[in-house]
Amino acid sequence: DMPNSRDRDLRRRAEAVIPGGMYGHQSVGLLPEDYPQYFASGEGAHLTDVDGRRYLDLMCAYGPNLFGYANPQIDAAYVRQLEKGDALTGPGPAMVELAEAFVAMVTHADWAMFCKNGTDATSMAMVTARAHTKRKTLVLAKGAYHGAAPWCTPRPTGTTAEDKANQVHCVYNDIASLEAAVAKAGDDIAAIFAAPFRHDAFIDQAAPDPAYARRARELADQTGALLVVDDVRGGLRVARDCSWSKLGVQPDLSTWGKCIANGHPISALLGNDKCRAAAASIYVTGSFWYAGAAMAASLETLKLVRETDYLERIEALGDKLRDGLAERAQAAGFGFRQTGPVTMPLFLFDDDRDLRKGFCWSSAMLERGVYVHPWHNMFLCAAMTEADIDAALDAAEGAFKVLKREAPTLGPVEKLAFLAG
Ligand code: PMP
Repeated sequence: DMPNSRDRDLRRRAEAVIPGGMYGHQSVGLLPEDYPQYFASGEGAHLTDVDGRRYLDLMCAYGPNLFGYANPQIDAAYVRQLEKGDALTGPGPAMVELAEAFVAMVTHADWAMFCKNGTDATSMAMVTARAHTKRKTLVLAKGAYHGAAPWCTPRPTGTTAEDKANQVHCVYNDIASLEAAVAKAGDDIAAIFAAPFRHDAFIDQAAPDPAYARRARELADQTGALLVVDDVRGGLRVARDCSWSKLGVQPDLSTWGKCIANGHPISALLGNDKCRAAAASIYVTGSFWYAGAAMAASLETLKLVRETDYLERIEALGDKLRDGLAERAQAAGFGFRQTGPVTMPLFLFDDDRDLRKGFCWSSAMLERGVYVHPWHNMFLCAAMTEADIDAALDAAEGAFKVLKREAPTLGPVEKLAFLAG
């Protein structure tokens, strides 16, 4: 048997019964060939693929894993509620308790609504803003990801131009372009959307310029538009509050998802009193939105957020990883850019437009038992230890050696040819 024979077999069977074999952000279609598509289990900070290979997982399920896969405390709360009933004819007390917990934790929030995916929350933010202002136009940063609905999908196939009508784009962190976009929206502006920091795929991440955040708040106030911070990805890895609270900027709405129940399915829209009536006036719902088990898991997750030093610990681990990688990259003679918060790093090599170096290094990391992503930001979790970071750094030392040896003969990564254009 090949070392990846189970994965290959599942992929072959999937070709027959799943369109394209796999879809969406967890498809390995744009990853190096040796990346596994299918996993058998996750435990703490580690993943085991279907062929039994174990990895330190720096992707954390693309965010949901904050306190470790199969966290016993959170999963016990989930199972307790599951045994009592999950999706019932109405919500249980956990829904009210969870709204109270979010309102107590997040400075700008006076109310909470729960849904399932980040896209539900960002779509509700859009509709709330349009209901509140009775206007249409959204100001969005070019390239920023807010979900997979027709109004925000990065791939227009199957959508219409009308789905993305009433949108004006600016450049993240560029105040003049933000002002120009707001001017262009004119008296039709409904909302300004902002990611907590720039976390677009394929390019360096960027911290938010505090002056940009403050200007967004001012422009929203001057025009009557609502300011939305999309914390679906960054939430709880930057602050125990909305991520922009660190800049002293409070949005009207914030969107949450991914890790708020440590991987159990729930997301949230939080808002202030200004737009409470609008939020109460829109029709949004779903068959599974009021299911109690994920709410119980989220309550337990927020308890860990409040009562542990998880954030300080993942920041310390992130610092150790960043410093250690910088040292090893420099020793090997590579320009290696590490951007974004240390708890959500992105790695790109200098002079590597088609990512041939990134692919080679990432594959060498995978072979050494560390799952990194060559072009998407990664995520640290509180189940990681100093020993895990040491293991990642040892792997990196080996991976830089491999890259040094192979760099002169690396060919272009054909499937990423679109990046060069
Ligand atoms: N907003 C941001 C910033 C995200 O990162 C994501 C998910 N990657 C979403 C919205 C959409 O979330 P979901 O995939 O859960 O619908």
